[in-house]
Amino acid sequence: MRNALGLMLATVATAAIIAGTWHYFSAPRAVLASAPQTTAAYPSEQASSAKLAAKDDVDVTAALPSKVAMQQPAPAPLPLPVPAVQKTACANPDALGISRTVVVDTTGGPGFGMDHFKQFDFLTDHEVVLTFDDGPWPRNTPAVLKALADECTTGIFFSIGKHALYHPEILRQVLAAGHVVGVHTWSHPNMNGKKMTDDLAKDELEKGISAVKFALETNPAPFFRFPQLQHRPATVAYLGTRNVAMFSCDIDSFDFRSKDPEQVINTVMTGLEKKGKGIILMHDFQKHTAEALPTLLRRLKAGVYKVVAMRPKVTLESLPEYDAMIGQDSKLPTTMTNARPLSSVIQTISQ
Ligand SMILES: [Zn+2]
Repeated sequence: MRNALGLMLATVATAAIIAGTWHYFSAPRAVLASAPQTTAAYPSEQASSAKLAAKDDVDVTAALPSKVAMQQPAPAPLPLPVPAVQKTACANPDALGISRTVVVDTTGGPGFGMDHFKQFDFLTDHEVVLTFDDGPWPRNTPAVLKALADECTTGIFFSIGKHALYHPEILRQVLAAGHVVGVHTWSHPNMNGKKMTDDLAKDELEKGISAVKFALETNPAPFFRFPQLQHRPATVAYLGTRNVAMFSCDIDSFDFRSKDPEQVINTVMTGLEKKGKGIILMHDFQKHTAEALPTLLRRLKAGVYKVVAMRPKVTLESLPEYDAMIGQDSKLPTTMTNARPLSSVIQTISQ
């Protein structure tokens, strides 16, 4: 009887596992998929990350260290293209944190941000994505990094290529802190401007990619935002061929014209009250944003808003001819240490 009961229980358990697996594999595959972990990713972190690597689809946040510890040991992961959201447990028990992480398959150049791209409405009510443009920049970008670290949360930084070469050490700090670094052109032109051509627009994009890569000393994320949200149709099509995701926004902070930090906060919170969720556009380049962020993150927490981390499935390869241009422009050595094709490295995510 005990054997029969045991067999029955085992059968039920097996059926449940199969059902769960079937549910996953049979579910419609959107561009986005919930990522199972926010664990470490840098090669240098492999040793410590191996024991933290999640095997299931439990969203892990830094605020839940016990959940991480409960994960089953996994084989040492391949180096992931982007670093961990959090390297260590969050020291702030009341932190805003990260509610979930999604991995983005950028094949074909999907667009995000409902102001321009309505196809992938992946955020649920009260979910937000924090994005910061135009950096890196002294003082302001580090202040933004500190505010995010204090709240154990994360964002996407769309860097201007020129700024990346002015301050590569700051951009590397952004990446090292666990944030995602995307590209925002080489020199921030209006891509629909009168003097712009399709070829010049391509140059702006590719040179920006090479510059950000040069500064980071590794590939950026295949995430791009058009300056002033000027989506040039030919460039949109080209981004599709490069498998680069485009980011518009849902809530524009208009921080570049805010008269003080309070106005930045009010604009974002008012926008969120109207829309309930969304990708928030800010600028780590802007002093008022840097000053506003500690309070803004507290307001998000008080409003029960939840931060979603977006991670690319693979990184973005630059083009050699543009890498060569960057070497000349930056007056830095043109030899890149990044000989390994990182695009061949894919996150080992089981979900
Ligand atoms: Zn910009």
